[in-house]
Amino acid sequence: MKKTASTKKTASAKKAVPAKKAAPAKKAPAAKKITVAPKKATARIKGAAPAKTVVHPPSGESRTALVRRARRINRELAEVYPYAHPELDFTNPFQLVVATVLSAQTTDLRVNQTTPALFAKYPTPEDLAAANPEEVEEILRPCGFFRAKTKSVIGLSRALVADFGGEVPGRLEDLVKLPGVGRKTAFVVLGNAFGRPGITVDTHFQRLVRRWQWTAETDPDKIEAAVGALFPKSDWTDLSHHVIWHGRRICHARKPACGACPIAPLCPAYGEGETDPEKAKKLLKYEKGGFPGQRLNPPQAYLDAGGEPAPPLRAG
Ligand code: SF4
Repeated sequence: MKKTASTKKTASAKKAVPAKKAAPAKKAPAAKKITVAPKKATARIKGAAPAKTVVHPPSGESRTALVRRARRINRELAEVYPYAHPELDFTNPFQLVVATVLSAQTTDLRVNQTTPALFAKYPTPEDLAAANPEEVEEILRPCGFFRAKTKSVIGLSRALVADFGGEVPGRLEDLVKLPGVGRKTAFVVLGNAFGRPGITVDTHFQRLVRRWQWTAETDPDKIEAAVGALFPKSDWTDLSHHVIWHGRRICHARKPACGACPIAPLCPAYGEGETDPEKAKKLLKYEKGGFPGQRLNPPQAYLDAGGEPAPPLRAG
């Protein structure tokens, strides 16, 4: 029945009459056990053991719940890695495409140590297209697979000169025609040199999205499509950086640092790695030799979790 103005009045009038005897206080209901994820990613990374508060996604997670969880993971990672960026040093699209090709099977740090000499000697596609392969091989030797990589970078430079007027094209279909350039490299270039959204499915990305059960696909193109469907296009490039940074620093292939992981409550694979917070902290790392391409200070959360600030890669 709807309450009328008169019934409301009567009720409040009744309340106004002072009681002769104070009614015995009602027993407060027993506090419910709350099991929610911490609000801030930093709360987790500071070392609180996550095990008791973990809300792992249910096995029969709906599509909507998956989308929400995936986006929440990305938001949490954006807080932890607000400065995530490609860790390869470059100043133009040509340098980025070459550096990305060179980064196969080696670290970005190693590439960043190698490319200054390469670009000093061969600053343009025309220069590299006309280079003596043996001289290029000598420069690229530290990157591993230096003969194949020399062939690729000289080949792609020749293709740039012959087919694109010495400019790196800004379209996926053109980029993947360049020698040594697959979809992964093409998306790195599109996302970071041209501002076009792209998902970079490297080894870290593949491992992490499977751990998070965003997809069960194993083929990079299918992973790209499946993950792309969970996010708006505008998120793709930053998402790639967040996931790759997390894979490099916390969610390692062999021993993920689950006990110091900011997204543990959202991760179905929690427990695959070290769950003890103190031991997990020791597993956190930047790449060997420091913090490649450091341009900004590491986030406080990383330092709080025991991360070491590393010196910039090069002086100046
Ligand atoms: S596996 Fe462990 S480290 Fe990786 S995301 Fe899940 S909880 Fe974090």
